[in-house]
Amino acid sequence: MDATYDAIILGAGHNGLILQAYLGKAGLKTVAVERNAVAGGGLSTLEDPRHPGFLHNVHAFFQRAITTMPWYADLELERHGARYIEPELNVVLLTSDGRPLQWWTDIERTIASFAEFSRRDAETLQRWHEEFVPIVQNILVPEGRSPPLPPHERRRLLERSSAGRRLLEVSALSPLEFVHQEFENPVIKAGLLFFNGLREVDLRVRGFGHHIAALLASPAKAQMSRGGSAALARALEAAVRDSGGEIRLSTEPARVIVEHGRAAGIETTSGETIRARQLVASSLNPHQTFLDLLDDSLVPRVLREQVEAFQYNLLAPLFALNLVLREPPRYAAADRRPELAQAFMVILGLDHVDQFHDIVRHHEAGTMPPTVMWGACPTLFDPSQAPPGGHTAFMWEKLPYRLHGGPANWDQAREQHGRDMLALWQRHAPNLSDAVIDSFTRSPLDTERSLPNMREGDLLVGAFTNGQIGFDRPFFGAGNYRAHIPGLYLCGSSSHPGGNITGLPGYNAAQVVLADLGIETAWMPPPIAQRLAALPEEPL
Ligand SMILES: Cc1cc2nc3c(=O)[nH]c(=O)nc-3n(C[C@H](O)[C@H](O)[C@H](O)COP(=O)(O)OP(=O)(O)OC[C@H]3O[C@@H](n4cnc5c(N)ncnc54)[C@H](O)[C@@H]3O)c2cc1C
Repeated sequence: MDATYDAIILGAGHNGLILQAYLGKAGLKTVAVERNAVAGGGLSTLEDPRHPGFLHNVHAFFQRAITTMPWYADLELERHGARYIEPELNVVLLTSDGRPLQWWTDIERTIASFAEFSRRDAETLQRWHEEFVPIVQNILVPEGRSPPLPPHERRRLLERSSAGRRLLEVSALSPLEFVHQEFENPVIKAGLLFFNGLREVDLRVRGFGHHIAALLASPAKAQMSRGGSAALARALEAAVRDSGGEIRLSTEPARVIVEHGRAAGIETTSGETIRARQLVASSLNPHQTFLDLLDDSLVPRVLREQVEAFQYNLLAPLFALNLVLREPPRYAAADRRPELAQAFMVILGLDHVDQFHDIVRHHEAGTMPPTVMWGACPTLFDPSQAPPGGHTAFMWEKLPYRLHGGPANWDQAREQHGRDMLALWQRHAPNLSDAVIDSFTRSPLDTERSLPNMREGDLLVGAFTNGQIGFDRPFFGAGNYRAHIPGLYLCGSSSHPGGNITGLPGYNAAQVVLADLGIETAWMPPPIAQRLAALPEEPL
């Protein structure tokens, strides 16, 4: 007999699970269909098969401000076991000569660190921090947590308030222009752009200048999940089950069934039919949702062209070196600066802002740039991720998906590249020459193999570029989470506000789906248009 639910969710990554839990809480009977043998997608923690008890977070690790996310509270994730750690020395850029540029959870300490490189830049940081805190709080954060407005309406509303006008003015720049205009020190410029590059915005493109200012003002710091990133996935699964939801693992959809013009269910690759009374929501990428899972006759030509033109990030793919250690990396620079022994994210190989042009050029050519890498030693902060006395650590580097013309070349190149990364790491942390018990690498091709929605290894599942953000993500006018077929929705990172562990595509999709079903809920935030319209015309 066919199984019937109110809602079917395709893909049980964190966005799919968040949507599912909200729908379940609203009384819908739900099922998620996941191709992998575990749920969580990018929230993945693997036990080392050669070293029992050593855990590796092979995808997302640094998670920004998770504990402040509305879904974290609404879904009672701490009751379901989630716990977060936010190290105070949040990020350190260690230059080749061992000077540390430090980002602390306390802005005053960050300003003091900037002053060691440039007093003027420290003052600039303070000024932008003060000016942008209200813009982040009153505009950018609520916008990320809401279905996006059409661009002309957004602009009209923003132009009514002084904060909105300032945001539009700063946005008109590219991140590169913003940094060159405002800051003088090459290390500080490099650090700011690198942080912004973590969001993978093309630093040369106008329209994103506010990203740096927002970064300077944002209270959202990097956090890590106690027990490994997968612990958040386990808490989300528990929230789903608590709401009556089911998760079908190792199950792949073959097609979305459309009847009488509505999404009515799916057929799986094993031939099973699962029916949906109300909706099917896809957390997969546009190629999978529209081209792989819908019959050709259901995809109008214009839509097909939009999907085919959907771009994945050139600069997003990551290469990872993962270590099993008998002691944590001990940075030589910590002899003079003992606080570095407790640094969370460490950036190595970055000394000058001009390296960015080089990195972009290498990505375009499919060649290896000089290594700039960043990573952490999770067990310094959470000993539960290794047996007593043991440690794990990793470094990531942005490297091209199409290496020397094609991704298949990664399988030969990976081991040597891992050794090259380790050599750079050892120059900063000499004890690594004796401390490494074992290591393994993962390439951009491995990312795509384990999570095919991350096409071309793009862990953000779609470029952040004009024409693919906000109301136009994944494409022109499609940013309201509704696909062209009634009852078919989008809820993954290809939708606003995009990839990374934010849960916001799933959270925003829940708002749209429940509104369409006429279901009222207490957690729903006020409409974004109302919030922007209420901003004061003059500065506060
Ligand atoms: C190496 C690496 C490091 C990263 N580091 C960070 C970080 O530090 N911080 C951060 O915030 N983000 C990081 N990310 C990005 C983050 O993991 C993703 O942006 C995020 O997981 C996207 O969430 P999602 O729910 O939209 O998709 P996913 O997490 O990818 O979930 C989608 C789910 O759909 C499933 N699926 C795919 N195809 C099918 C199919 N055909 N049928 C059924 N199911 C399918 C997948 O198996 C997966 O479970 C990293 C990613 C990688 C690869």
